[in-house]
Amino acid sequence: MSNLWKKETLCVQGGYAPKVGEPRISPIVQSTTYKYEDPDHLAEIFDLKASGHMYSRISNPTISALEEKISLLEKGVGALATASGQSATLISILNICSSGDHILSTSTLYGGTFTLFSSSLKKFGIHVTFVDPNLSVEEILTYGTENTKAIFAETISNPSLNILDFEKFSKIAKTLDVPFIVDNTFPTPILCNPFDHGANIVIHSATKYIDGHGCSLGGIVVDGGNFDWSNGKFPQLTEPDPSYHGISYVKEFKELAYITKARVHLLRDLGTTLSPFNGFLLNLGLDTLSVRMERHSENALALATFLSSHPKVGWVNYPNLPGGPSYGLSKKYLPLGGSGILTFGIKGGRVTAKEFIKNLTLAALVVHLGDVRTSVIHPASTTHRQLSDEELEASGVSSDLIRVSVGIEHIEDLINDFDKALNKLK
Ligand SMILES: *Cc1c(COP(=O)(O)O)cnc(C)c1O
Repeated sequence: MSNLWKKETLCVQGGYAPKVGEPRISPIVQSTTYKYEDPDHLAEIFDLKASGHMYSRISNPTISALEEKISLLEKGVGALATASGQSATLISILNICSSGDHILSTSTLYGGTFTLFSSSLKKFGIHVTFVDPNLSVEEILTYGTENTKAIFAETISNPSLNILDFEKFSKIAKTLDVPFIVDNTFPTPILCNPFDHGANIVIHSATKYIDGHGCSLGGIVVDGGNFDWSNGKFPQLTEPDPSYHGISYVKEFKELAYITKARVHLLRDLGTTLSPFNGFLLNLGLDTLSVRMERHSENALALATFLSSHPKVGWVNYPNLPGGPSYGLSKKYLPLGGSGILTFGIKGGRVTAKEFIKNLTLAALVVHLGDVRTSVIHPASTTHRQLSDEELEASGVSSDLIRVSVGIEHIEDLINDFDKALNKLK
C-alpha cells in the first residue's frame, strides 16, 4: 500500500503503522535490549534465522521506522541508519572493500568525505582515485583497475554544486561491473531519486535536510537492491561469513544482501549506531521534508537571482539558475527544485568574503547547512582549510567562494540582509 503513496504522504505516514491502541507517533524506544523467553528463539535471531530486535547497537524499533520511511522515499529495498553522515559513507565502502581494493570517486566532494577517502581509507589500504567529473567516459575508465570496487559521487557536490551526470557515471559503473554509490544529501529523496538514474547504493547525511532543524547528527545507507553481487568481485557477500556460522549473504538474503551485511556485520562490529532519541528527531524532521524542500528551493533561486544582478557580486552558482554551468544537468535531474544551497563570490576575493560575513545579521556563520535558518560559510578558511590549493581547485572551491544555505525565512528579509551586508563593503 505505502509503496503507492506519493512522497508528501510517505513523509508523514510512511514507515510506521500503529495498531489499535498503540501510540499514534512512532515512540522513542529508549531501551538497549529486548526481552525473550526461549533461549532457542534468541539463538535463531543471533543466527539470522529469525527476525527480531535483540540489542540496540544492531536494531531498534524507533530507528527501524526511520529506516523504513527513508527507504520508501528513496525507492530502495532497505536502509540502515548510522550515527552520522560520515559513518554512512564509511559503512557504504567498508561493506564491500577491504585492504588492496580501489574506488573511483569524483574530485568534487564534501571536505569530510575527501579526507576520509584520502587519509583514513588509505590507512586501511583502500585506495581512492579522484577524477575530474568533466572527463569523458573513456578517460575516466582508464583509471579503473581490476581491484576497483565502487564508483562514488555526490548528486549535488558540496560546496562546488556540480550536478552529477548520472548517465555518464552509471555507464562507467556498469562497464566496470561495480556498484554506483551516490551521496544524495543535498537534493534529498524529495528532489532526486538516484536509483531512478542507475545508482545502486544511496547515502545521506541526515544531519542536514532530513533533520532540517540543526538538532541531530545522523546518516543513512539505502540499498537499491539492483546490483548483482555474484560477479566474483564481492566475496564478502557471496562467500560464507565465519562470524555467522558460514552464512552467505547473497544466498540467504537475495536483494537484501548488502544492507543486511552492513547491519549485522558492520554495525555489530563498528558500533556506529544512531541513538533512538536522535532517530526520533530525524523522523520528526522527515514529516515536513517535502514542504521544506519546496521553500528552500524557491528561496534559493530568488536569492541567487538577486545576487547575480548585484554590482558587488562577481559570480553566482545555483543549480537552477538559467545560464549557470550545471543548468542542463539540473533541468534533467532536478526538475522539482535545486535545493537550498547556492555559492557566490564577491569582487575582492578572500578578504572581502570574510568582511561580508561579518556584516550579515539574519544569516549566521555556522559549520552546517540544510536547516530552516539561513547560514553562510567560507569553505577555504573553514571546512576545506586542510586542502592544498591544488586540492581546493580540484574540488571546485575558489578562495572567494561563500556557501549559503538558504533557509525558509521570508525571502524579502533575506534579500535585505544580503543587500545591506554587500552595500556596507568598501
Ligand atoms: C555533511 C555532509 C556529510 C557528512 O555528514 P555528517 O552528518 O556531518 O557526518 C557527507 N556528505 C555531504 C554531502 C555532507 O554535506
